[in-house]
Amino acid sequence: MPEHPSFDADVLIVGAGPAGLALAAALADAGQRALVLERQPREALANPAEDGREIALTHRARGILQRLGWWERLSADDVAPLNEARVADGEAPARLRFGPGTKAPLGWLVPNHRLRAVGWAAASSRPRLTIETGVEVTALARDDAGATVTLADGSQRRAPLVVAADSRFSATRRLAGIGAALRDFGRSVVVGRVAHAQANDGIAWECFRHGHTLALLPMNGGCSSAVVTIPSEQAPEWLALDDAGFAARVQAASGGVLGKLHAAGPRHHYPLVGVYARRFVGPRFALVGDAAVGMHPVTAHGFNFGLYGVEVLVRELQRHRGAAGADLPRALAAYEAEHRRTTWPIYQGTNAVVSLFTDDRPLARVLRPAVLALAGQAPGLRTVVRGLITRQLTGQPQWA
Ligand SMILES: Cc1cc2nc3c(=O)[nH]c(=O)nc-3n(C[C@H](O)[C@H](O)[C@H](O)COP(=O)(O)OP(=O)(O)OC[C@H]3O[C@@H](n4cnc5c(N)ncnc54)[C@H](O)[C@@H]3O)c2cc1C
Repeated sequence: MPEHPSFDADVLIVGAGPAGLALAAALADAGQRALVLERQPREALANPAEDGREIALTHRARGILQRLGWWERLSADDVAPLNEARVADGEAPARLRFGPGTKAPLGWLVPNHRLRAVGWAAASSRPRLTIETGVEVTALARDDAGATVTLADGSQRRAPLVVAADSRFSATRRLAGIGAALRDFGRSVVVGRVAHAQANDGIAWECFRHGHTLALLPMNGGCSSAVVTIPSEQAPEWLALDDAGFAARVQAASGGVLGKLHAAGPRHHYPLVGVYARRFVGPRFALVGDAAVGMHPVTAHGFNFGLYGVEVLVRELQRHRGAAGADLPRALAAYEAEHRRTTWPIYQGTNAVVSLFTDDRPLARVLRPAVLALAGQAPGLRTVVRGLITRQLTGQPQWA
C-alpha cells in the first residue's frame, strides 16, 4: 500500500503507451507504486497490432530498455542493426554517409508493436505496478496534499503525483493548464514494408526527392520499411495504391538502391504534427513521452526522448525522496531543466531540417545540395556534422 492511506498509488500515470509503461516499470523498480490508467482495452495492449512504425533506438535508449527488462524479451528477429545512414537529394547519388567504419551499430530498429508488447509483459510482471484498462481520465484536480483524477465513469483515483503520458495531443496536459506549441507540417507519412532480394546491409536511406521524401529503414528477413513523406492531400492517393503500385512508386523514388521491391505488408498513415509543451511540470504534475515532446519522425527521436525523460524523472524523484516527499517541487524542477536542455535543440534542429528538405521552392532546392555537399566535403564541417549526428544517434553526450 502507498504510504498515505487516502492514496491509490505513489504516482498515477495517464496512458499505457510505451512511455507510460516504461515510467511505471522504472518507478516500480525504484520502490514507488505506480497506477497506470489507460483507455484502450487490455487485449489491445497485451497483443498490440502491427502499426508500421519501426523505432530507431539509440545506445542510451537500449541501455534503459535493458535495465527495464524489455530488451531481453525481444527476439533476434525483432531487432535490426542500423549500421549506416545515407542521405541523397534530388536525383543526385548519396552525398552524405554516417556510420561506416564505426565499431558498434549507430542504433537498432525495433517494430513499435513489439516494443509495446514487451513493455506490457514487463509491466505486468511487477508487483508494485497496477494497470487499469478501459478507463478514460476526464478531469484533474490538485491541492497541497495530492492530485485526484476523475474517470469517465465518475470514479476517482488519488496520488501525490500525476504524470501524463497520453500522447502528443494530451488531454491531461490541457486539464493541467499547460499549453503547447504545435507545428502542423501539412504533411503525412505513409509507411509500408517492402521485400527485396538484395541485402540492405543495415543501411538506412533518406532520399529527398522533389515533391516527397522516402526513407528506407533496414529490417530483418530481406525487408525494409518504406516511409514516404508527402503533402497530406496526396495521402489518399498513396493509400489507394495496390501492392504492385506502391512497390513500383517506392522503387522509383529509391533510385533502385535495393533493386526490385515487393510490398510485404499493409500501409499505415500518420499526419505529421510536432508538439513541444510550454512546461513539462506543474504542481503535483509532470509530462513524459510525446505529451512533453512530440517529434517529427525524420530524426527518429520521439521514443528515445520519452525514455530519456523517464530515466531523468525517476532519478530526480529518487534523489528527492520520492513523489510523496516534501522535495517533490525540486525533483520536478530538475526534471524540467534537464529534459528541456536535452530535447529543445534537437526539436528545433529537426524542424529546421524538415523545412529545408521538404520545401520545393527554388531557393531551398538550390540550398539543399549545397548544404549536403558542404557537409560531405568540407573536412572540418563534415567532421562536426557527422560527429554530432553520430553522437546523437548513439546517444553519447554531444561534446564527449
Ligand atoms: C511513423 C512514425 C515513426 C516513428 N519513428 C520513431 C523512431 O524511429 N524513433 C523514435 O524514438 N520514435 C519514433 N516515433 C515516435 C514514437 O512512436 C512515439 O514517440 C511513441 O510511440 C510515443 O509514446 P507515448 O507513450 O508517449 O504515446 P502514445 O503511444 O501515443 O500512447 C498514449 C497512450 O495514452 C492513452 N490515452 C490517451 N488519452 C487518454 C486518457 N484521457 N485516459 C486514458 N488513457 C489515455 C492512449 O490510448 C495511448 O495508449 C515514430 C512515430 C511515427 C508516427
